Amino acid sequence: MTEQYHNIVWQCADSEMASGSAEIIRTLNDHGYEAYWVGGCVRDEYMGRKVSDMDITTSALPEITSTLFPKVIPTGIKHGTVTVIEKGQPFEVTTYRVESGYEDHRHPTQVVFVSQVEEDLRRRDFTMNAMALGIDGVWVDPFEGRRDIDSHIIRCVGDAKVRFREDALRMIRCIRFASIFGFSIAKDTWKGILAVRDTLSWIAMERIRSELDKMMAGPDPLRGLELLKQSGLHSRMKVPFPYENNDPNMIHAISVIESAQLDVRWTLLIHGCGITSMEADKLLREWTFSNRRREMILGLLSLQEAWVTESRGDDLESHRLQWINAVLKHGAEIAETWLNMQEAIQSTGKLCVCGVSIEQMRLWLEDIQVRSLKDLNLTGNELLQALNRRGGPWMGKVLQELLVKSAAGFIPNDRDALIEEAKRVIKHEEQ
Ligand code: ATP
Ligand code: MG
Repeated sequence: MTEQYHNIVWQCADSEMASGSAEIIRTLNDHGYEAYWVGGCVRDEYMGRKVSDMDITTSALPEITSTLFPKVIPTGIKHGTVTVIEKGQPFEVTTYRVESGYEDHRHPTQVVFVSQVEEDLRRRDFTMNAMALGIDGVWVDPFEGRRDIDSHIIRCVGDAKVRFREDALRMIRCIRFASIFGFSIAKDTWKGILAVRDTLSWIAMERIRSELDKMMAGPDPLRGLELLKQSGLHSRMKVPFPYENNDPNMIHAISVIESAQLDVRWTLLIHGCGITSMEADKLLREWTFSNRRREMILGLLSLQEAWVTESRGDDLESHRLQWINAVLKHGAEIAETWLNMQEAIQSTGKLCVCGVSIEQMRLWLEDIQVRSLKDLNLTGNELLQALNRRGGPWMGKVLQELLVKSAAGFIPNDRDALIEEAKRVIKHEEQ
């Protein structure tokens, strides 16, 4: 009885995910309810792109869906969404619904369940995202999303101005999709953005950042940035960013960095916009970047600033020592990432700030055996015991000096040699 339903074969989805979601749709159908795959998964399958998750839309009310499956999480039951666990994987199953009363250009105040799938599709943002696919392989595509995908066009469902005014985030999503897919934006849709772009300031930066992260991690972030600039949206965010007078080399370097290095791309963008590390600290907090990401970006920016502003001797040795100090200060991970970033900048034809070849700096980095205090073969306590002294601020200073000297290869990293050197340093300071 089951096999006849499994007409559609997913090419771009993991087979467990496809069969798990098919099972849910089949169960709903067997109980007399309509159910379809919907949104991003249907779009991605049609476009031949990897499907990352599969959402289901159904005529069944959430209370009904909840009773049909053994494992259900009431994720957003008020909005009609429950998460069904099938074959160990979660699937969002949402009741056909329409939204109304967008008071502040972001949140619908009312959700009403409806009986027709076409009505549910009508509330969705773009034609390519407003398609549903049944288990028998039947398409529900009332706004001709497939035609727009074939013509590489992003188009609002309905009147663009109205749709963007309802939820201003859609303007950023529009640019995100155009950038990731390399599509153009339909004329009316673009006009809609220009007409209501001021409403973007209502949107929480967290939602905007999440869309921009996807854009920046995509295959052509430069196109997205250009569209942001042309639309003027960059300057209308709650926390705008000054993209007008950017350094084109830095911006171009973004496209040389592989997409997995998302935070290096952001660093180049921020640096390319002339934002200092101090300003960036504030900006990144307001943009709701996690602490981990903020520290990475700030580390790269401050290393960049230090390298540009600090004067260096001309000889190789003073270069090397300065680099070792920088590595110890910022950590080997940031130092290595920073070198990759320099390589990208250099490939755009801009003179590198390194002063010596990137290859040479990489070799110096590899040569550093001792990269932090915990690599040092001498603990604070051992130092206190050996010198028979009480702890104090002097200790940190001495350990730091031992670290620099052993990292530079001036003294070996063994206990006796380190203690010897500590004694020498202290004696020297006391004279
Ligand atoms: P991605 O591949 O990045 O997940 P997606 O299209 O699946 O893209 P989601 O945010 O996961 O994006 O949203 C799932 C679906 O919900 C969309 O395809 C669209 O139909 C609908 N949707 C999402 N956000 C909005 C919005 N702001 N306004 C209208 N419909 C939306
Ligand atoms: Mg999605």
